Amino acid sequence: MQTEILDINDVSLKLSKRIIMNGGAVAFPTETVYGLGANAFDNAAVENIFKIKGRPNDNPLIVHVHKDYDISSLVSYVPDYAKTRAENVWPGPLTMVYNSKCTVSKAVSCGLNTLAVRIPSHQGAQKFLKYLNLPIAAPSANISKHVSPTSAEHVFNDLNGKIELILQGGKCCGGIESTVLDCTGDFPVILRSGLITREMIEKVVGRCGLYEFKEGCAARSPGMKYKHYSPNCKTMLFSFKDLNYALKEYEKQKRLGEKVKLLCDEATAKICGTAEYLSLGNTEAEAASNLYQKLREGENCATLIIAVAPEKQDGIMTGVMNRLIKACGNEK
Ligand code: AMP
Ligand code: MG
Repeated sequence: MQTEILDINDVSLKLSKRIIMNGGAVAFPTETVYGLGANAFDNAAVENIFKIKGRPNDNPLIVHVHKDYDISSLVSYVPDYAKTRAENVWPGPLTMVYNSKCTVSKAVSCGLNTLAVRIPSHQGAQKFLKYLNLPIAAPSANISKHVSPTSAEHVFNDLNGKIELILQGGKCCGGIESTVLDCTGDFPVILRSGLITREMIEKVVGRCGLYEFKEGCAARSPGMKYKHYSPNCKTMLFSFKDLNYALKEYEKQKRLGEKVKLLCDEATAKICGTAEYLSLGNTEAEAASNLYQKLREGENCATLIIAVAPEKQDGIMTGVMNRLIKACGNEK
């Protein structure tokens, strides 16, 4: 199968509709990462998404809809706090988990009685979703466990020959996956951290929990138990307070013949002197936006990435740290 990257226009939207209505998958841009979308009502099409990615079949998908889509046809009960939150953040990088009406394919939620829904703000995503006027089940458009894609070229590198069409939407500005918020209880609980932070949610609705997956327990968000976001090279992760150890390791590994790059923000790089580094930028938003791009650059030019965690760990950095730990193993 030939994989084409096409700008979003009448011709490519028409083609995307033909592919989706025939049970195929189309990669499309969002403000977080690129998604690999299929018709959420079509069981075989949703199951095919898992096959294309090599995704474990107990890791549920998020359904994406355009901003005027009536989600009451998909979910049964939306608590007031979730309505308030949605009014503030949708369209945007927040996924809400509700009780499902089970109108979409069972494969979307992998047998759970809940459904994760998101309205992305990216204009290209809105055009694609509006044109189809269907709920589109879409995980990130990468091979499972590899680094998530933040450009059409990243998608091509992972899925060339496996899908027909990638809609070109440029670099994803957000850079890490949406915040996943469980809205089935008395107050919301963050299942996966992202650009919409706990602090932002608490400001609007008061109380907001943060779920932490513990090894050996049943996962409330099955995706949390899997290794994720890993580049195809060796990795190490040091906390900021252990920067000296990170630099010693950098020198040692270079002497041993590894092609080593540090992965750190600009403030840390200044302290590191002449060490070669992949820059996470100056701000927390830049760190989120650059993270996957730099992990992919690193796997192409280095045999070992030594990541140094940013000093600040709250707000957006909670989500960035979560990805860094999953990508680069246990923190040292
Ligand atoms: P991805 O599509 O790779 O960004 O992953 C989707 C994330 O949403 C995973 O972490 C899933 O566990 C989570 N998710 C999707 N549907 C549900 C659901 N019904 N309940 C809880 N978590 C969900
Ligand atoms: Mg993913």
